[in-house]
Amino acid sequence: MTSAEIIAVGSELLKPEKIDTNSLWFTEKLNEIGIQVKVKVIVGDEIETIKQVVQQSLTRSELIILTGGLGPTQDDVTREAVARAINRELIYRPEIAELIRQKFALMNRPMLETNKRQAYIIDGARVLHNENGTAVGMQLELEEGRMIVLLPGPPRENQPMFERQVLPILRAKTGDVVFKRRILRVSGMGESAVDEAIAPIYSKYESIETTILFNRSEIEIHLMARANSEEKAINLLNDLTSEIVSKLGIAVFATNGETMEEVVGELLKSRGETVAVAESCTGGLIGMRLTEVPGSSAYFLQGVIAYSNEAKVKLLGVDENLIKAHGAVSAEVAEAMARGILIKSGSDYAISVTGIAGPGGATPKKPVGLVFIGYADREQTKSLKVNLPGDRYLIRWRASQLAMDYLRRKILQKEDTKI
Ligand code: AMP
Ligand code: MG
Repeated sequence: MTSAEIIAVGSELLKPEKIDTNSLWFTEKLNEIGIQVKVKVIVGDEIETIKQVVQQSLTRSELIILTGGLGPTQDDVTREAVARAINRELIYRPEIAELIRQKFALMNRPMLETNKRQAYIIDGARVLHNENGTAVGMQLELEEGRMIVLLPGPPRENQPMFERQVLPILRAKTGDVVFKRRILRVSGMGESAVDEAIAPIYSKYESIETTILFNRSEIEIHLMARANSEEKAINLLNDLTSEIVSKLGIAVFATNGETMEEVVGELLKSRGETVAVAESCTGGLIGMRLTEVPGSSAYFLQGVIAYSNEAKVKLLGVDENLIKAHGAVSAEVAEAMARGILIKSGSDYAISVTGIAGPGGATPKKPVGLVFIGYADREQTKSLKVNLPGDRYLIRWRASQLAMDYLRRKILQKEDTKI
């Protein structure tokens, strides 16, 4: 068994308010045992449509997992639809009705007549018990090694059911195939530049599927390795990762899915050093991201949101005349902000941001997206000028990312010159 299809049943999933998250969780679990999801379908609570979908799925997929529509009400029709799709009877099982009645008794509630619907089982199905609800699941083995699994919609019900009652059976069928995933993150390079540099490397690894994608402010390299043991899959990923890192160098900031704030935090922590930030157009975003990491109090000293010119003067000690001469959005002011917060906080490093996030506030010389990142340590003060694309949200996000990346690169360069 190598391929699967997931069918999410529920009319609410076709409305703008509700999203199908079940399939993401199931995909991860299936990938871990070497089964790839080839198709996902979302279908409303309509018996005929569900039946058609299941019949189509049976023509192309070995394993079909349905979630949702196993409740007691009239709109829960998955049982009936699947029974029709494979031409089997629904059989009333009094012992399951009794189990449901006991569950209601535990909650001090009488079992309603409608709950008896949940005691109907498709002929030949193995019953999957539900510890967190009244809807039982079903597992059906069909001709040609195909399998259908029916599970209730709520994740807290279907996840333990799948893990304990379905996965062991699937694992026995897939043999020793293991999939392992890993995400690398790259800053300061475009998608095509990354691909051009590493395509000759990753194409040598036939059992690793490599996907390169752009994500808000960075390039992600997704690796999925297939092997006959976990250890082999991990070794494959380690080998490819180190080849990519030696090719792209400092541009790779994460090799295990870490975020920029985690990477910067780890770097500071390992060196026993501290940072402070002075933010204008990012309005505290850098401080928020850095302090989102548990344990950040070990290295994050303070952040100042100096939005107005007066605040830059008062809180950071920026020279008023500097702002008059160059404007608040300038390399000079970015550097003065960084130096100012470094001195006031007594930190080892400081970063600052001043820029035009838009949509207003631009001038011919200073367009929306113009951002200066300042950096200071005990020996030097530097800045970086960039023109960031995107709307207000993206400009602010990208500026925060760039500032942390600038700090990361400066620390690593310092490390290099020491050696
Ligand atoms: P049901 O088994 O159809 O009665 O589903 C009951 C509840 O499970 C729904 O109201 C949702 O909150 C949740 N649910 C159903 N399907 C999904 C899905 N595909 N992803 C996430 N939650 C779901
Ligand atoms: Mg439903």
